[in-house]
Amino acid sequence: MSSIINKKPDNATGEKQGMIDLFSRTISYLRVSVTDQCNLRCLYCTPREISEKLACSELLRYEELLRIIKITVGMGIRKVRITGGEPLVRRDIISFIERLTVIDGLDDIRITTNGIMLPQYAKQLYNCGIRKLNISLDTLRPKRYKQITGRDYFHRVWQGINLAEELGFAPLKINMVAMRHINDDELLDFGRLAMDRDIQVRFIEFMPIGRDTAWEKEKYIPTVEMIERLTELGDLRPISATNIDGPARIYRFAGSRGSLGFISPISHKFCDRCNRLRLTSHGSLRPCLLIDEETDIKQLIRSGAADDDIRRAIALTILKKPESHALPADGSGNCHGRMSRIGG
Ligand code: SAM
Repeated sequence: MSSIINKKPDNATGEKQGMIDLFSRTISYLRVSVTDQCNLRCLYCTPREISEKLACSELLRYEELLRIIKITVGMGIRKVRITGGEPLVRRDIISFIERLTVIDGLDDIRITTNGIMLPQYAKQLYNCGIRKLNISLDTLRPKRYKQITGRDYFHRVWQGINLAEELGFAPLKINMVAMRHINDDELLDFGRLAMDRDIQVRFIEFMPIGRDTAWEKEKYIPTVEMIERLTELGDLRPISATNIDGPARIYRFAGSRGSLGFISPISHKFCDRCNRLRLTSHGSLRPCLLIDEETDIKQLIRSGAADDDIRRAIALTILKKPESHALPADGSGNCHGRMSRIGG
């Protein structure tokens, strides 16, 4: 197991930098889904899973989550993203996040949210020291928002975005899943949003993941088409020579305040630079979003495993991280994992 831990010191105290997988990728980013519950019923994510929600006892308790996160940080994880379901609906989420922020060696904590509870929680999150927020919003039209999400909360989300900007969250990112005949007529409106405000709008390819959702190949739009359509607003320039920020390729319109990010898991896989591990709300570690392979950590913890046993299970999971996912670039294929449990 120790062979996968990178021995190169990465700071003055000589802490380890990350874990190395079989394809020489350094795994340093853990995404944690704290609940499968969500206050939306997006047609492409949760609609028919409502009756299949996890029992409380199936969710990892906060103590269990903190124990696993601390162990992974000891192994080299440096960045944690809290996601869900909708993370802000879990009871006592703020005190959990406060406890996360004091973990030694964990310098970067981010949250992905649908924004509905931001009017209530943004200030507390800011006061905990959180600065990096991704807010999911697929439409700028209130009526359509209700059609896509099943709920009439557009104005709350918009209020949450404004408040987050006012408080100084940065970078502030809006995630938009582009879907043909559903919201693709708003690509330019989202482009204009990034022109006018200091926000990064991230255009995400619609992925064939989950059972019984509204995914259809015809609704999938490759990044190249999104970029082409957005250039109607002006020249899109890469932000830097590599213009890569995590999985996203970043561009800007001349003179715009914000930027555009394109996330292309299907048309341009970024598996070769994937540094992620996912902890699902049902307590499993998942080495790849788009491959249904998981390690049951909850069962291990609840059967009294020592930290060393958990470390070994984490290391073995990393060794199972595939070189790349197997979904074809034309947007066909399917993977059965549930986004509401994995967290995206
Ligand atoms: N509730 C939080 C939120 O709305 O951001 C976190 C969980 S949600 C599952 C995380 C992200 O996954 C959202 O941006 C959502 O739009 C995205 N997502 C869900 N299903 C998807 C799919 N089939 N393809 C692409 N993105 C998807």
